[in-house]
Amino acid sequence: MLSVTEARERILSVFQTTASETISLIESSGRILAVDIAAANDLPLFNNSAMDGFAIRSVDSSNAAPASPLTLSVVADIPAGSAPTVTLGQGQAARIMTGAQIPAGADAVIPVEHTDFNERSAGQPAPQQVTFTRIVKTGENIRLRGTDLPAGNMVLKKGHFLKPQDLGLLAMLGIANIQVYKKPRIALLSTGDELLKVDEPLTAGKIHDSNSYALAALIESANAEVIYLGIANDTRESVKSLLQKAIAENVDLIVSSAGVSVGAFDFVKEVIESNGSLNFWRVNMRPGKPLAFGEYNGKPFIGLPGNPVSAFVGFEVFVRPVLEKLSGRSDRSKPTVKVRCGEEIESDGRESYLRAKIRNENGIHTATLTGNQGSGNLLSLVQADALLIIPAGVKCVPVGQEVDAILL
Ligand code: AMP
Ligand code: MG
Repeated sequence: MLSVTEARERILSVFQTTASETISLIESSGRILAVDIAAANDLPLFNNSAMDGFAIRSVDSSNAAPASPLTLSVVADIPAGSAPTVTLGQGQAARIMTGAQIPAGADAVIPVEHTDFNERSAGQPAPQQVTFTRIVKTGENIRLRGTDLPAGNMVLKKGHFLKPQDLGLLAMLGIANIQVYKKPRIALLSTGDELLKVDEPLTAGKIHDSNSYALAALIESANAEVIYLGIANDTRESVKSLLQKAIAENVDLIVSSAGVSVGAFDFVKEVIESNGSLNFWRVNMRPGKPLAFGEYNGKPFIGLPGNPVSAFVGFEVFVRPVLEKLSGRSDRSKPTVKVRCGEEIESDGRESYLRAKIRNENGIHTATLTGNQGSGNLLSLVQADALLIIPAGVKCVPVGQEVDAILL
């Protein structure tokens, strides 16, 4: 049977990154940069004060001490946002606010708290003179132009996932519009005669469709757009009609759940083959063996298993990497980490994804399974912090051994 790695490679090989579009900065959080960004200007933009205080010439303070206070005359008042016009001469100071431009001649700022000027509430005019009793070092409390980021330096690379702090930096650089990759559009459907929408009253033999909700949220968590098609019954016609809807929506990928196993009413594989082809429909993994990949009418199709935990695992292992490739993302949104097994774990030799709680034991991330690993037991996934990856061929992992884990 196909290994997880080979199955993932086969799937990924058919996808290309989407086209790019230009959007406003405010809309760009969670999107993927389609261009490299270099700084068009220095940061800070100009030499400015790191404190509310007095801009001075540090040389004037060389003899200041408690026994020999220094008094300077205040010749200007420089609020943030103004452009100072004075040049400080010997014995002169300017009151200055945090973020205000340093006037010519000044090379240091003494904080107001270190002076005799006590009128610190808003609206107080600058004093005529200011006195203090210590040496002020050259450069003290001055943020020099270009020290954080010199103009021309590379800031963010194409493929970067834009986080809130990135938006702040891009705004500092005056970038109002930004080129990002288009959000992948993913059609989603559930299949099964037993399924009712969450707000429909239950009747004998029926259950609520839970996969649609979990999978739609997963797709959105990968910053793709969900085109929700609804629930198909276990008939060829019903499955076909929802797949046709997906084609009409011109999506990048069709994702379904259930109906791809060997049950008497599992029509999904057959319908796909009637108007497309299946590349594979089983993978050597647990949970989630019945997992289909192919194309329908030229559109890539992934048929996840029906059991809720299997559908979730199938998404993380196969669909999330596709969404990252489609959206141009260069890093992994859920990288694996090493954790230590806090109990002996048995496996059946298939590559297994086991639900586990991670606790910090003397600084070491230690994993214990969250109970019953049945593929329908969603509660044990809800209680888990991670999926432990037990490699194919391994039947037993002893206590203390390290394994890879996907943090949830
Ligand atoms: P199937 O692959 O159709 O044999 O479904 C396997 C199991 O998953 C069955 O117990 C189904 O009832 C269950 N199942 C299928 N689809 C869903 C869904 N959308 N939400 C919750 N459970 C489902
Ligand atoms: Mg079914």
